[in-house]
Amino acid sequence: MTVINQRQMKSSFGLTDFLRKLLTNPLGLLWYYVIICMAPSFYFAISQPVNFIARAIILFFPLGFFLLVLSLVRNSGRGFVFLFPVFLLNGFQIILFYLFRGPDAISADMFLNVVTTSTSEAGELLSSMTQAILVICLLYIPALILAIIQWSTNNVLKKNIRKKMILTSLIFLSLSFALFPLSKNSFRSKFTFHNDVYPANIVYNLGFAIHKIIKVKNYPQTSKPFLFDAVKKDTASKRMIVVLIIGETGRAVSWQLYGYNRPTNPNLEKQSNLIVFKDAITENNATHKSVPIILSCNDATDFKDIYYRKSIFAAFNEAGFTTVCFSNQPDNHSLTEDFYRQADIFRIIRVKDPATGDYTNPYDEELTEMMKKIIKENKDNLFIVLHSYGSHFNYGDRYPRQFSIFTPDKISQLSQSERPVLINAYDNSIVYTDYFISQTIRALEETKTDAFLVYTSDHGEDIFDDSRNGFLHSSPIPNYFQLRIPFIIWYSNEYKNDFPENVSAAITNGQKPISTNSVFPTLLNAAGITTPYLNNSLSLVSNNFTVKPRMYLDDHDHGIPYLQMNLAPEDLFLLKKNRIGD
Ligand SMILES: [Zn+2]
Repeated sequence: MTVINQRQMKSSFGLTDFLRKLLTNPLGLLWYYVIICMAPSFYFAISQPVNFIARAIILFFPLGFFLLVLSLVRNSGRGFVFLFPVFLLNGFQIILFYLFRGPDAISADMFLNVVTTSTSEAGELLSSMTQAILVICLLYIPALILAIIQWSTNNVLKKNIRKKMILTSLIFLSLSFALFPLSKNSFRSKFTFHNDVYPANIVYNLGFAIHKIIKVKNYPQTSKPFLFDAVKKDTASKRMIVVLIIGETGRAVSWQLYGYNRPTNPNLEKQSNLIVFKDAITENNATHKSVPIILSCNDATDFKDIYYRKSIFAAFNEAGFTTVCFSNQPDNHSLTEDFYRQADIFRIIRVKDPATGDYTNPYDEELTEMMKKIIKENKDNLFIVLHSYGSHFNYGDRYPRQFSIFTPDKISQLSQSERPVLINAYDNSIVYTDYFISQTIRALEETKTDAFLVYTSDHGEDIFDDSRNGFLHSSPIPNYFQLRIPFIIWYSNEYKNDFPENVSAAITNGQKPISTNSVFPTLLNAAGITTPYLNNSLSLVSNNFTVKPRMYLDDHDHGIPYLQMNLAPEDLFLLKKNRIGD
């Protein structure tokens, strides 16, 4: 015991001694701060798929940059404290390393996700990320304490040493530029600063995100004059009700209808008049980008035009439908809400409780009840969007207790070892989604109208599915689990009688590869609406539907074939194995 205590005392003296020495050594402190500032760069240098020269650039650029910034100020402790925004970005970046287990820099979408994610959602995620937060605290808190002490004691570098450091920093910066022509990225065609060198890439992405926020803010004005010139051909003998259910975080691999070995679709399995599109993928793995594509005539190939056009609600309005939008998503600041407002009747049910400030947590079936009420009260042709909360994390909160079929489903931590519990909870949320969709179909059947329904999800989800340990969605590089979504069409018997050709075309198209850009043309076409903005070759109820290479909306809003999205070999294998492809 005594020996151990003496050792402990010695080591604590050693640490105190070391800290005292460090505090009296401003040059040591300067290098310590530089290393702390460039912490994420070490991980990037090791794990980016780039050549040796590019790895050197990934280190030399931030080394030169932070050394320059901290040498330019007389008291580098003070300089370090003022670099606080850098710590925030680094912290965010370290959380991403932990989440996506790969060298993905903070993308423009990640910044936008922060803006479009409610605080309760962020809280749900952060509370489970203790490991990442621990690493951030261990890195930055001691450094900040030392910097504050140095600032207060004014123990600064001599002028001639600072000059030397500035010169050294300029050498590193020059080297990073000079080596550039020899750099290579094994994925992208080019290695670029704005894509590959941290923190230059996140500064670029932040600027891109800010520009996009401004475009979304101006959307009500920029889209105001737009008209679809939409007209409904009157061939139906009955009242028409067209319904779109937008799922949240629904992955096809967890649906029984898509070959999953658990009974997660007990109701839809028995449902008549249902067409299951087995090969469906999303055009983006983030809600704020995927849902606007679902709700508009724009897709990954012409996303830039979305800010100057109206949504599907406006098209149905022009054609004489009463349009309705009920959403169980928390209010956010994305284009989706601007689209909602174009509906005649619009309500969000996931709202902040004024007493507690927390979001309420209604189950999706409330949307069905609201739909039933509207159908009863309003005798017009109706276009109804039910935007569900589906399987959004935390999965266990998405379904009532009686849907706790697979147990245990109480999630205590986010890790590979907890996967069985996470999967149980996730699968229960799919069983509940199956119930919610079936209840909606049941309500439509009872109306005896020409009813037509599309359900699809905005994106899938990673649940520690393989050795990559991916979790959630919105990763900068999509994968099989996030891309593949369920996509189903249901029609009433009355609809089939009035539009037999549409139904037979949809059944034929059910075997073809499709993506979320088919929602807008399919729904308009199914309702017998024409507009110059309806592309028949994307309509699933048209014989003119044409199989094309499927596109993905990348981080800088360019549409590129999804197979060129740097998918990992594991994903390419799974796509092939499950016969997903063009
Ligand atoms: Zn989503």
